[in-house]
Formats: sequence, structure tokens, C-alpha cells
Amino acid sequence: MTPRYPGAYWMSAGKDQGPNNGPTTVSFHGCITNAGIEGVRSYVEQENTLHGYVAKDGTAAQYKDFDRIAYGMLDGNERGGVTWETWDGLNVGTATYDDVNRGADARPEGTWTDEECERIADIIAWDAIVLGIPARTVTSTRDRAHGMHGHGIPSRATSGEGPNIYVGPDRWSKDNKKPCPGNKRIAQWPGIIRRSQVIEAAVRAGRCGFLPQGPVDLRAALSRTAGGVQVDAADWMRFFVAAMA
Ligand SMILES: [Zn+2]
Repeated sequence: MTPRYPGAYWMSAGKDQGPNNGPTTVSFHGCITNAGIEGVRSYVEQENTLHGYVAKDGTAAQYKDFDRIAYGMLDGNERGGVTWETWDGLNVGTATYDDVNRGADARPEGTWTDEECERIADIIAWDAIVLGIPARTVTSTRDRAHGMHGHGIPSRATSGEGPNIYVGPDRWSKDNKKPCPGNKRIAQWPGIIRRSQVIEAAVRAGRCGFLPQGPVDLRAALSRTAGGVQVDAADWMRFFVAAMA
């Protein structure tokens, strides 16, 4: 069996949809939800659209094994695609995609919390070491690598959604203009990849382990890669800003 990410609570959900021929390519999304891991489990039970979920405080759950199909990546679903959804705090009833109605309740306006960033970086580092999926950004939708939903969305830029990050050749949504995971989260991505590489190197060197289950304790999480020095959460924010520059 493909190993399960140990920092997530295993919460089997939905029906088995068969093998996905992977795992190969891991994608991260924004979920349009304010729910925690239990609420999202109910959704997966019905829709079978994701493998795992990262909540606002960094708590993670895995609902499906990474070598089984989830329906979050269209062409990628049977090409080894793994779908991780993340909390974005949006209201399912009022969140909008459209340009005119942009505001606090629009998907492109939000950011991943620090705890979500650290959890996502930890997942990527674990993927690299345990699943052999490198901690780098996709340059093709068929790469053995990591990306965001937008890497498989061809028309974000032409629709005014924001930067074009489409790498092709596959489409990861029937909606060519889908803004997922949002422009501000897309801007956070390079820092998350950098952080995942730091964690990967530290784990490989035996200096630390992966994050435990439950909410991310930022101070403890950062201190594991700081060579015995206590690190404040504020330092982690500076690390991110520097990594994104
Ligand atoms: Zn998405």
C-alpha cells in the first residue's frame, strides 16, 4: 500500500474509485469552505474529489490513499494526480469568482495561514522522501513534482484572473478560468517550496522529523530546522518574505 502522510489523521471517506496510476503529481487547492477536517470528510463521502485537507490551524486529514482516484484534477485524476484541498475561509453560499464582485469573500483575495504554509511544506518534504516526488514545482502537468490547481488551468490570464501559471498539456478543470487557489496563495508558493526543501534536507540529515498530527505549533515547527536555536513565529514570516523576493 502507498504510505499515508503520518502528520494527517487517517479518515477514510467515500467509495474507492480505482487506481490512479500514481501517485505522481501533487496539487494544492483552495476549498471554498470554513470547515474543519470532519466537515470536509462529509463532503468527500459524497463527492470523492480530494485525497487530503489542510485546515486553518494546519491540522491535516487524509481521506483516500494516494494511489487511488479522487476527482479533483480532471485529466490528472488517472495520471497519478493527488489533490490536497486547503481551508480558505470562504462562504460556500456567497464566495464568487467574478471580477465585478471582488471583495473579502472572493477566492483570489485570501492567503494561506502560516500554519497552512508550514503544513503544506511538510507534506511536500514527506512526498519527496517517502513517495519519491521531488520538492519542486511542476513544469508540466505530467511531472513528478508539486503544483497548484492553476498549473492545470489554461485561461486564468486571458480571463483577467491573474498570472498565467499554466504548464500543460493537461487540463485540471472543466472551468478554464478557475482562479484556484487564488492570486495571493500563488504568490506564497515559491516560499513554501523553499521551506519544503529546508525541511527535506533537515529530515534526511537526521536533524528533525515531520510535523505531528493536529494543529501546527509554529514555534516548535520552526525550531526543528533551526539547529537548536529557538525561533519565533515572526522569524518564520521573515523567512517567507525573503524566500518570495
Ligand atoms: Zn482547485
